[in-house]
Amino acid sequence: MQAIAGSVGDGGTNTGSDVALIQVMLMKVQQPAGRGPYLASYDGACGAGTIAAIRQFKIDQNVEPQTPAAAVRGVIQPNDAAWRRLADAVPQAFQGLRVLPSGRTVYLEASAQQRDAKITNAATYTFAPAFRVKVNRLINRMHAVHGIAIGVCPQGGRRSFQEQYELFTSGRGVTNAGPGESNHNFGMAADIGFAGLRWLRSDGTVVENEGHWLGQMHRVSAEQELKFWDALRTVGTSNEVGAYRGPAGDRPHLQNWSDAGVSMARSLAAHLTRSGTMHWERAGRVYQSDLGLGGALYAVGTAAQIWAGNATIDATTLTRARAAARPRAAALPVAARQMAGAPVRPGAAPAVAG
Ligand SMILES: [Zn+2]
Repeated sequence: MQAIAGSVGDGGTNTGSDVALIQVMLMKVQQPAGRGPYLASYDGACGAGTIAAIRQFKIDQNVEPQTPAAAVRGVIQPNDAAWRRLADAVPQAFQGLRVLPSGRTVYLEASAQQRDAKITNAATYTFAPAFRVKVNRLINRMHAVHGIAIGVCPQGGRRSFQEQYELFTSGRGVTNAGPGESNHNFGMAADIGFAGLRWLRSDGTVVENEGHWLGQMHRVSAEQELKFWDALRTVGTSNEVGAYRGPAGDRPHLQNWSDAGVSMARSLAAHLTRSGTMHWERAGRVYQSDLGLGGALYAVGTAAQIWAGNATIDATTLTRARAAARPRAAALPVAARQMAGAPVRPGAAPAVAG
């Protein structure tokens, strides 16, 4: 059982997390003579009902034998006799109750087997070796600190440019990065989620099928859901793990380096210039290329447009570009699709629209 940090009840410190934990414990312990559990619900706020339940438990358990029943106070101190008695009385199935220090949603600790299963699953994703070390550290650390078995979300590992394109254009709002513009495309990022987290609704029932993105908790309390994402990010960016966050609002996302001040699109343009025969720049979301002619830059389209064979350059522009570059460029350079060294797909439409 996770310990309480401060006192709970009459005159207690009553931190929300401590109160929630004590309330759930009192929900799982039965009163004598078939009177049911001490509490029927929990909310992390210590009211008269919680104080009365604590007091009744102490009287029933004769926790303070020297104190007349009328003088027993409804308060539990960390590791006092009432705490120990209550912890002992909680049924085995609920001995792993946990709550985040700043949260009020109680959950059940994951087993070492559940943690190891997440690590095994993470091994099925492609990551750069240095980043894989961090992913595994994160899974281990999250379990050690919070008792939670986190894991890699579907499509949360390395993505091909095509997969990135499909996510980008899916309309699901999953990513703002086009093909080649995400750390995911280079095995340097992971989306991590909470699938299987067993948390307790206010009536004490256990949610057994939570998804990666805490969708069920979100429907109950977005505020409580955020506590879990914050805990993930705090552990992920700790010195012990050494990962970095991506966009501020992209909660499941952690990556291998800090890209504060870095533009992935500008980096991609530089990468394309180094790895091919064309000079590339980017202007906002649009890429510009000299088309290998060594002259002026022409707007070619966004990463998604180029990848999909919908580059925004047409035959007239090409003719004009070649005429302007004559006599240097006799041959039309390779198609823009060869960006980032990606192979030209057999049968694919030419990247330059005609
Ligand atoms: Zn991500």
